Amino acid sequence: MATTSYLYHTMGLKNHRHLRTEFWRGTILHHVRLKKAKRSCRGCGARWPHLRKAGRFTRVFHAPPIGKRAQRVILHGHEQFCRRCLRTLREPIDFANPKRRSLKCFDRFVVDLCAIATIKAVAALLGVGWDLVKGIFKEELRRRLKKRRLGDVRYIAVDEFALRRGHRYMTVVMDLESGQILHVSEGKDAAALIPFLKSLRRRKVKLKAVAMDMSPAYMRAVKEVFPQLDIVHDPYHVVVTVNRAIDETRKEIFRHLTGDQRAVIKGSRFLLLRPLEALSDASLDKLALIMECNEPLYQAYLLKEELRWFWSLPSAALGEEFLGTWTKEAYATGLRYFKKLADSLLNHKEGLLAYFAHRISTGPLEGLNNKIKVLKRQAYGFRDKEYFKLRLYFLHNDTPAFAG
Ligand SMILES: [Zn+2]
Repeated sequence: MATTSYLYHTMGLKNHRHLRTEFWRGTILHHVRLKKAKRSCRGCGARWPHLRKAGRFTRVFHAPPIGKRAQRVILHGHEQFCRRCLRTLREPIDFANPKRRSLKCFDRFVVDLCAIATIKAVAALLGVGWDLVKGIFKEELRRRLKKRRLGDVRYIAVDEFALRRGHRYMTVVMDLESGQILHVSEGKDAAALIPFLKSLRRRKVKLKAVAMDMSPAYMRAVKEVFPQLDIVHDPYHVVVTVNRAIDETRKEIFRHLTGDQRAVIKGSRFLLLRPLEALSDASLDKLALIMECNEPLYQAYLLKEELRWFWSLPSAALGEEFLGTWTKEAYATGLRYFKKLADSLLNHKEGLLAYFAHRISTGPLEGLNNKIKVLKRQAYGFRDKEYFKLRLYFLHNDTPAFAG
């Protein structure tokens, strides 16, 4: 049978006396009352001699189960009239958070379980509703987020993610050294980024560089808040852009072909997107065929492959030389999409060459893409935007089981 000391050691009830324990429909109920010497006024802190009993209340709290047997603590509490502040208030409760129906030790147990199982599974295991579990977990995430310090952030990456296919975006910022998501907001324009950058500036964070794609919105935001900060146009997005250029080129060429030539180009899409070293013998034969029958498309492929060398160059000076040669070759092909790409690369030369000073990329942020997708599916089940965001902030230490 439980005792005052047992409740203290198992549930952290320091100031409450155990009255009795009973079993009711498979649940263990511990009845407790605040020790007389520990009474105080919730309003002004006055102690017992100033207090007069003015009524009673009972409240039931979830406690961690023993095995599969649920436990509850039933508090027999007093309403107290305080002669010092002249108010009638309920006695203070120190073993639970003010708005919770659960003991603090229960909340900690829930948070530990949420690290290894889904909210649904935790709720089922504990025999409580998932909204209670989610509420406790959410509060813990909120608390941890508040404690986060941003002072030593040096390298960040910014990118957009689609919330729903094609429309509604969110902007996500990552600390490239810790892998933590630092900021999440809706939209993909400068306004989605500026308030966060300003908060970094207020905290005097010493940023060294930011990695991003070549879209103007985020660049504008950075230029506005940190005019001196190095913007690095990351390899990841440039590769995406060059892949798009070769895809469009292939489509356009295909449209103007007939007969045998058409047959050669048909079905070459994935071959052309793949790097040279990953091509099978059969694909290499096909590439040779493309070279014979369609010189421009072959040139486009070579340009795409060549551009990958850029990021392995040892210095910005060599990078600049490389860009000069590459863009000249791109213009010489006369291919529309490669001319456009060359224009764009020259326009963003500064950001491309900044890579050599910092060697950062949005790659790690892109790496979270799948995790974000999984989370999005789960979070939409909950229809809770704040929870979705909170989970994003802690995505970097999510294990696959840490979900739901
Ligand atoms: Zn008082």
